[in-house]
Order: sequence, then C-alpha cells, then structure tokens
Amino acid sequence: MNYRSLNKKAANTSFKDAVIRGIAPDKGLYFPESITPLPSSFFESIDDLSYEEIAFEAIKQFVSPDIPEAVLKTIIAETLSFDFPVVNINEKISTLELFHGPTMAFKDVGARFMARCLGYFNQNNTKEVTVLVATSGDTGGAVANGFLGVKGVNVVILYPSGKVSDIQEKQLTTLKQNITALEVDGVFDDCQDMVKRAFLDEDLTSKMQLTSANSINVARWLPQMFYFFFAYKQLHKTHQNIVFSVPSGNFGNICAGMMAQQLGLPIHHFVASNNQNNVVTEYLTTKLYQPKQSVQTISNAMDVGNPSNFIRIQEIYKNDFESLKSNLSSYSFTDDETREALKELYENFEYVADPHGAVGYLGCKAYLKKQDNAHCVFLETAHPTKFLDVVTSVINKDIELPPQIEAVMDKKKESISIGNYDDLKSVLLNTIS
Ligand SMILES: *Cc1c(COP(=O)(O)O)cnc(C)c1O
Repeated sequence: MNYRSLNKKAANTSFKDAVIRGIAPDKGLYFPESITPLPSSFFESIDDLSYEEIAFEAIKQFVSPDIPEAVLKTIIAETLSFDFPVVNINEKISTLELFHGPTMAFKDVGARFMARCLGYFNQNNTKEVTVLVATSGDTGGAVANGFLGVKGVNVVILYPSGKVSDIQEKQLTTLKQNITALEVDGVFDDCQDMVKRAFLDEDLTSKMQLTSANSINVARWLPQMFYFFFAYKQLHKTHQNIVFSVPSGNFGNICAGMMAQQLGLPIHHFVASNNQNNVVTEYLTTKLYQPKQSVQTISNAMDVGNPSNFIRIQEIYKNDFESLKSNLSSYSFTDDETREALKELYENFEYVADPHGAVGYLGCKAYLKKQDNAHCVFLETAHPTKFLDVVTSVINKDIELPPQIEAVMDKKKESISIGNYDDLKSVLLNTIS
C-alpha cells in the first residue's frame, strides 16, 4: 500500500517510508491511497476467527508488501497479548474495555504495533531513529513501554508539567534506557506544536531521522481499527445497530473506527464524546471548524484544542458535511457531568469507570435519547486507577491498584524541564552527539 499526503504537495510513498517519516514533507498527514473492503465471507466467518486472525485480515492491505505476512503475524501476536472484553452495562449500553494492556490505556495496541514495525524496518540499519512524541497523558506511557529497549530507536516524550496524573507521569518518566521524558512548562498543545515544528526544522532533520509516535503516524493509528472488529465479534449475534461512542481527543481512535467501517464492518453510527474541548461538537452544529486553546479537564487525555486526525475524517467522508453528519454525532460534557456519570455507573450498575469512559457513557445516553433503536458501546479507554484521585473521591471507595500500576509507583521520576522550542532542540541535538 502506498500513502499520499493530505496536503497533496508531497510524493506518494510506501508504508515503511510513511512510518519512518511520521508526517509528510509538506506537513500533511499520510492517508492510504486506496481502501479495499473485506469480502463478505470474512464477516460471515468472523465467529470462527481468532482476534489475531481478524487483526491480520484487517490490516494486511495497509502494510504489505513492506511487512511480510509471517512478520506481520508475529507483530500482531506480540501486540495483542491481552484481552478486549465487552462488558454489559444495561440493555442498551455496553462498554469495550481497552485497558488490559501493560500501561492500562488503549494506546498500548498502537504503540506496541508501531514499535515492532519500526524495530523490523530498523533491524539492519545502523542509523538511529528518534521517536518524538507529545502526550496529553497516556500516549507517553504507552509509547515508552512499547519502545523500551527497541534497538536503534531513541524515544523523546514531551508532556505538560502538572497536567498529567501522578500515575501517568510515573509511567513515562521512570523507564530510562532509550526513553527521555521532557517536562514542558505549558499545555498539551504547546507540546504538540513543538513536535510539529521539530519535524520541519532542517537543522534537525538533516542530522537525525525523526519520527512521530502520535496517532498522526499510520502505524500507531491504523491498528486501532482492531477494537471495533473485536467488539463486533462479541456483540453481533445478540445486538443490532451497533453504535460506538468514542471518548475523543486527537480523534485517532474514532477515525480508525471509521476505517473499519470503510472495510465493511457494519457500524451503525459513531458518537464523538468530548469534554469541554469541543471543536468537533461545535463544528457539527455550526459547520465552522475553529481550533482553540485547550482547557484542562478531569479527562485530560482529551484536552486537545486542534485534533490532528480530523483532517483524515474529512477525507474519509470526502469533505462532505452531510455525509459526515449522517455517520457522526458529537456531544460535549462538563467535568461535573462527568463526575455524575462516574457516580451513576457505580451506583446503578456497579461499574467503576474512568473519567474518559464516563464521557463516552454520557455520549451513549445523549445519542440513545434521540435514537433508541440501537445498542451503544462506549470505549473504556483507560483503567480507573490511572485517575485515582478523581475516581475515588467520586465513588467514595478505594480501588485496588493493578500490578502494572503498582510496579511503577515507587520508581523515581527522571525528567528534563524545558520551556521553549530552543530547549527541545538542544536536547535533541545532544542525543546524537
Ligand atoms: C488518548 C486518549 C483518548 C483520546 O483518543 P484520541 O485517539 O486521541 O481521540 C481518550 N481516552 C484516553 C484514556 C486516552 O489516553
């Protein structure tokens, strides 16, 4: 599969090149040249296929021929070494738990898949690759964990100081080895802007191979399609009109769901559930797309003021507002509403959600209010203990730390504080000297 830049000013390129570059030379996001739907026989036999077989069929066209089939099978097996259960909430609502991986956030799948692709591409290469990534919370830990010890790859993570949870910070600052954490005096958008700037800085790019592990990277973004297939496999015999409510920040996850739909997966509708960072909710109401400074919320991984994958969503729906609107609804919720939802899930259904999942739950409720002939699945994108303070104060109960979290709690944080782009640049130049 070749990839084209959505800015249309760079040459089309291979999967390998798109992964190594992260972003096209004209600053555009890469997008597959074509999408071939899976045959109906695939969907008819989905009950007989394992998760690994489903994932293989779903992603094969996007990575071949650069990743040979046998290698792809190994990468998938290593990526998907944990479970993706659908848990019933009530008759109309379920949740797909995506937090059973090593850092307990859904980003583990994309990070692990991408790390293994890059490791494969780099195996005979003497030139190091530097993965540069901005995190609003969970990406950092997932990427750090996924790339730890991968030969020939250095990872530099930027995170907004004081704006990620304690556990998230521990997960990205305590691993060391090939991982460097930069604590930025600013908000997530500042981190993301610096990363974007670095990719365009010839001073840097002439001296080092930089790539991104944010969902702008196709190897991070596309494996997220798997979730929607896995949920469908678990639900399709008993439920019709499956709707996904996706707690959204950079819109990579929901956009991957839309790719699954393009492959023929029968998804009835999407709901983009937002916190107060609601550029897309506003867009669907006003038709005006107006990026804003992000504001801080209790669902911090969604504190994004200018969602980078929205342009891919526009591409999928051919920039047709009505066609997008018939497939996507979007709602935005306040922190108070989110706390109420956490409480309601716990008290009425004995389900302990995290703040992001709670926003997804609210999205389901809002959608079902106007369209009740559907079953809505909200994605539970992180384990509640990653947001311990918020969750325990709302449900008034201690929750037990899972072993993955316990393991990082006592480790020592190591980070470098930076204030601006020049600081970032000197850190990066230091990694190569
Ligand atoms: C990253 C993240 C999101 C948002 O996902 P996007 O793909 O950026 O829209 C939601 N919830 C959690 C817990 C996350 O870590």
